[in-house]
Amino acid sequence: MPTRTLTTVSPVETAALGEAVARALPPGTVLLLDGELGAGKTTFVRGLARGLGAAATPRSPTFALVREYGPLVHADLYRLGVAEAAALGLDDYLDGDRIVAVEWSSHLPAAFWAGAPATVRLDFILKDETRREITFTWDDETPAALAKALGTLACA
Ligand code: ADP
Ligand code: MG
Repeated sequence: MPTRTLTTVSPVETAALGEAVARALPPGTVLLLDGELGAGKTTFVRGLARGLGAAATPRSPTFALVREYGPLVHADLYRLGVAEAAALGLDDYLDGDRIVAVEWSSHLPAAFWAGAPATVRLDFILKDETRREITFTWDDETPAALAKALGTLACA
């Protein structure tokens, strides 16, 4: 599977990366974000929201584990087991025209996302206080324009 790995050196840079990626995402794309707490997943989603023109700024969830920000749906499965995560109704968004960003996607089996028009995995690694390594992984069914954009991604 094709991958691209980038290292950001600040939260601003991680958000800027999210903003840049937003422009390349066809409607219906599902982004699966995994990596330890504090690795930068929500920071990336904030940039994504900005790039998509969402009116509000995503936060780490307190009670609502799925939130809609106009063109963006943001879910966080951190606290959930498989049964609870499956009961959230996320599958309702998978054939839709919004971008769906899911933190802790590993709490559901990979097959759960199979119906989405395009799926991109983002694995976040906390390297040190300010550096985060982000690896994008996509597959052969990814629309060509998106694959090209991901393959040439760079930090600002
Ligand atoms: P997650 O959603 O993965 O738990 P968050 O995005 O909520 O992570 O938090 C990341 C934390 O790490 C924030 O406090 C942010 O300020 C800090 N941080 C430091 N360097 C970076 C970086 N390069 N990218 C993203 N966040 C960073
Ligand atoms: Mg988070």
